[in-house]
Amino acid sequence: MQISVLGLQDERFQRPLQLIANLFFEESEVYLHAQQNVDVQITIDLEIGSSIRVNALLLDKEEIEKSAFYETLVIASESEKEQFKQIKYAVSHVYLKVLQEWTGITQKWGILTGIRPTKLLHRHMQKKTPKAVAHQQLKEDYLITDEKIHLMQQIVDRQLAVVPDLYELQNEVSIYIGIPFCPTKCAYCTFPAYAINGRQGSVDSFLGGLHYEMRRVGEWLKENKIKITTVYYGGGTPTSITAEEMDMLYEEMYTSFPDVDKIREITVEAGRPDTITPEKLEVLKKWKIDRISVNPQSYIQETLKAIGRHHTVEETIEKFHLARQMGMNNINMDLIIGLPGEGVPEFTHTLNETEKLMPESLTVHTLSFKRASEMTKNKEKYKVADRGEIEKMMEMAEKWTKEHNYTPYYLYRQKNILGNLENVGYSLPNQDSIYNIMIMEEQQTIIGLGCGAASKFVDPLTGKITHFANPKDPKTYNESFEKYTEDKLKILSELFATNQSHA
Ligand code: SF4
Repeated sequence: MQISVLGLQDERFQRPLQLIANLFFEESEVYLHAQQNVDVQITIDLEIGSSIRVNALLLDKEEIEKSAFYETLVIASESEKEQFKQIKYAVSHVYLKVLQEWTGITQKWGILTGIRPTKLLHRHMQKKTPKAVAHQQLKEDYLITDEKIHLMQQIVDRQLAVVPDLYELQNEVSIYIGIPFCPTKCAYCTFPAYAINGRQGSVDSFLGGLHYEMRRVGEWLKENKIKITTVYYGGGTPTSITAEEMDMLYEEMYTSFPDVDKIREITVEAGRPDTITPEKLEVLKKWKIDRISVNPQSYIQETLKAIGRHHTVEETIEKFHLARQMGMNNINMDLIIGLPGEGVPEFTHTLNETEKLMPESLTVHTLSFKRASEMTKNKEKYKVADRGEIEKMMEMAEKWTKEHNYTPYYLYRQKNILGNLENVGYSLPNQDSIYNIMIMEEQQTIIGLGCGAASKFVDPLTGKITHFANPKDPKTYNESFEKYTEDKLKILSELFATNQSHA
């Protein structure tokens, strides 16, 4: 789909208008100038005075016309950037409306293309805006539908029930630990995940670096009396290393980190059932790991094969029962809607199988075609359901979870996600993952250790966010972990020193 947008000179419009176009069309190109043979031309007429008045007129090849108008008062703002933002929203409004009319598709999230919609509602809650006013504002500002506003409110309420001090946790941190190995690589995967077989040398050096990072960061936290809220081991698959290696790693955590007994939650992803053994479960129990994740993704064997997961459906079920028997009482399971070859009948089967296990939490993802994955590179090989069917499956997940006493407690959106839907985490009462809430709502710093681990520094005073990424491949990590650790400690010292001097 080629769209030519006329009437806007500022190049900064290109990206937001492209992102909105992506919500409607699989492949689209937006030009901010006249272009021969485009499918649609949209002329924007913008007037800025005490209010922003904007008109959009869409004209397609068949000379079908659609138009929209929007007016909003200019909010006095100091920075040029803020002013542009207001204009950008106004233009996005009319642009979305004409595209909705033309395609007949309603975008339930309106002009929002960001990843964390619930943050917008939290901002209102923090300012104590009455709910009705906040909802109205979200509707007006972003054209979000009532259905999605209701979902956002439900999630925000739940998060505040689980973490009542969510808005006061900026002086604590959470820790993410990335273990970049997996038994084999899945076709949709863009995580740092390297097939572990035959790489023991590389695993050994990686773990050496990781222990070093944990020690240094732990020392810093102790010196600065900073508490840890949650710890999350992800990757890759953190249970793809041996039981002995896991044992040493958790011992390091207990020795190096401050007050591990007071950490609210420690999660270890055991995503691939083929990595779970009784010995490893013993180690998890020994170190009081509260929460694990065993991920079926689908209960259809052919699908698992097609996406490169070399384990059987039976193995998922078997390992789930094993974990249960050995006392793991907070198990999360991830499902993916829209895997190749899957539609309503396959997803119905997956939900029926889930019912037999009833994990404490369930994360329902919608397949996303990430640019770097094998699946995206060979898109024609993978047949996936259309938008309507994806939406239907999403509704089935909503209905099923509700009927089985699960409540949504976090959500995030992705670019290039099928049907432009969202990923939702559901949980049974009091089994919500606090780490997932922390990562989504960005109320505190998350320190990333290990391969591919992204640190997110949230200024405790201003809330400003900066990012820092550890190297993705084990080789670079092994060569440079000391430098990366020192760089992070420097950022942390600046961040928390400023805070302490203002306190
Ligand atoms: S198990 Fe997860 S991290 Fe590992 S290859 Fe598959 S999707 Fe990637």
